[in-house]
Amino acid sequence: SKATLFDKGTRVNITFSDVAGLDEAKVEVMEIVDFLRNPKKYTALGGKIPKGALLVGPPGTGKTLLAKAMAGEAQVPFFSMSGSDFVELFVGVGASRVRDLFKQAREKAPCIIFIDEIDAIGRARGKNVMMSNDERENTLNQLLVEMDGFGTDSGIIILAATNRPDVLDSALLRPGRFDRQISIDKPDLAGRETIFEVHLKPIKTSPNLDIKKLASMTPGFAGADIANVCNEAALIAARKGKNQVEMEDFNDAIDRVIGGLEKKNKIISPEE
Ligand code: ATP
Repeated sequence: SKATLFDKGTRVNITFSDVAGLDEAKVEVMEIVDFLRNPKKYTALGGKIPKGALLVGPPGTGKTLLAKAMAGEAQVPFFSMSGSDFVELFVGVGASRVRDLFKQAREKAPCIIFIDEIDAIGRARGKNVMMSNDERENTLNQLLVEMDGFGTDSGIIILAATNRPDVLDSALLRPGRFDRQISIDKPDLAGRETIFEVHLKPIKTSPNLDIKKLASMTPGFAGADIANVCNEAALIAARKGKNQVEMEDFNDAIDRVIGGLEKKNKIISPEE
């Protein structure tokens, strides 16, 4: 799911238990959660708390979900924006939105600011296709100004997500900015099984549903695709008037989701 433009300081009740797999990433972000909970514990010895981390990985792998879970675990407000919402804005609007977001965040600190699809604003010069370069640069510069403008003891942690770390302007990756990278990969077989378990919870399934088999039938699926399969299967079974979702409904749902992914790849791949 996309971070909607301006999740303005929402309280979230998502926790790490909603995020299946991603064990290494969870360990890394746990450290940041602890900074938010007890900043003094860290600054007491003169250490500087990192300002931000970049979550790197393919679409639908749970980057937004993990960022929200961090806010939920630390019990701090969650602010978000998406880089793609800054496409085609009038001159000055992008920068002023960034300024506005940080102003509100400072008032509610400690908090988390999440910037989805940061590559849309943070691409290195000349590589951007989405936005006029001047306007994109204004927006990016404002973001850098804001990041540099608060101390590490301000209690604001900025997370950003991208699947194209290679195109990012190096200014974003300098120490004191997004100097940590956390990779969020597509799940392996065991990971898919745990993601199925999470998304099957609300669904009335037949008792002989084979979750291991579902995981083995879905190589290359991201968490978002698995969530999609579970929902499709429930709808397919309901349409047939069943009172529980069976393996054959999941087979059909998987075919349907694979079909959708193939279509999407046909449209997307020529650019990549
Ligand atoms: P994008 O880059 O497309 O924004 P993303 O990596 O931010 O993708 P999310 O928006 O976090 O992905 O994931 C979409 C949905 O997929 C989640 O709301 C959740 O339902 C499901 N999902 C993805 N990964 C996981 C996971 N590891 N555990 C449980 N659910 C997951």
